[in-house]
Amino acid sequence: MSRFLTAEASILSPYTPGEQPQDQQYVKLNTNESPFPPSPRVVKAISKGEIQRLNLYPDPDCTKLVTALANYYDLKSENIVLGNGSDEILAFAFRAFCGKGKPVAYSDITYGFYKVWAKLYDLESIVVPLRDGFELNVDDYMDLDATIVIANPNAPTGRQIPIADIQRLLEKDPDRVVIVDEAYIDFGGESCLPLLYRYDNLLIVQTMSKSRSLAGGRVGYGLGSPALISDITRIKYSFNPYNLNRLSIAAGVAAVEDDTYFKACTGSVMAVRSWTVSALEELGFTVVPSVANFIFATHDTKPAKELYQTLKSEGVLVRWFDAPKIDNHCRITIGSMEQMEILVETLERILEGE
Ligand SMILES: *Cc1c(COP(=O)(O)O)cnc(C)c1O
Repeated sequence: MSRFLTAEASILSPYTPGEQPQDQQYVKLNTNESPFPPSPRVVKAISKGEIQRLNLYPDPDCTKLVTALANYYDLKSENIVLGNGSDEILAFAFRAFCGKGKPVAYSDITYGFYKVWAKLYDLESIVVPLRDGFELNVDDYMDLDATIVIANPNAPTGRQIPIADIQRLLEKDPDRVVIVDEAYIDFGGESCLPLLYRYDNLLIVQTMSKSRSLAGGRVGYGLGSPALISDITRIKYSFNPYNLNRLSIAAGVAAVEDDTYFKACTGSVMAVRSWTVSALEELGFTVVPSVANFIFATHDTKPAKELYQTLKSEGVLVRWFDAPKIDNHCRITIGSMEQMEILVETLERILEGE
């Protein structure tokens, strides 16, 4: 810390991203990236398309990408706003819909960034404990006078709640915004999208980072009623109108347009997920039911921290959270079949050495 840091900045507790080792070659199963490269159409769109025009600012409205997404989801362009990753959309949404007298509510075990933004914006947080088995029960949120944020499927557990539950929340208080973070929705979950036209207090946040192999491209988006979207656009234009660069816009368009590739990749992850769950269960793990591209697992005898450390020393990187209630679980990204075979073989070796 320098002596120039303000009191406001010194009390922040920044997000800790999963390790991104730049040296060693790991089997990298720690940050829920796709094991597959982006669609060949993305590669083509970038190398041929936009590089020559990098001297010009990008389109701040991301019109081409908005149009591609509108076609894909059968929405109007007024329902869509683009962000530099969905993290940015979430940050804009917190700024737009939470503040003095309007706290933000989220569960005790969920995406770690929610509490970071709450602190950044000096918001009051209502932290709602999950029930047993990491179950989110919407009854616990029904009467809250707060903006509600729910990751569905949840991270790091992979569990989902039915959209009927979210509908109940939306109906209970039409003057309360419900933000549904659908970062992992494309791996078998049930999206809230069908509710979009019926509830103007619903904001859905999605990303191309996980299911469209574009984590490095930073493309996320918010879907909602035109009024909600214009509120977020207001924040965007108060912060960084050119939040998506030319290359990312071109990449995003190509990624949305290649639905065949998208379905092949997400289909593979779902198939490899069921294989991995069975293999781990045979090794004595209990795995939380997951509809995401990761699983959350605990072992009958071997502590999670030790597993994480030993796996790392063997070249397999998973995520372990040093936090109450979850510190005996590892979150394991579903990679390619080859990567998961290495994981399972390594675990077999580690557990045999008991
Ligand atoms: C990965 C993730 C995000 C953010 O992803 P971006 O790369 O910023 O689009 C948001 N929410 C959850 C729950 C995530 O796991």
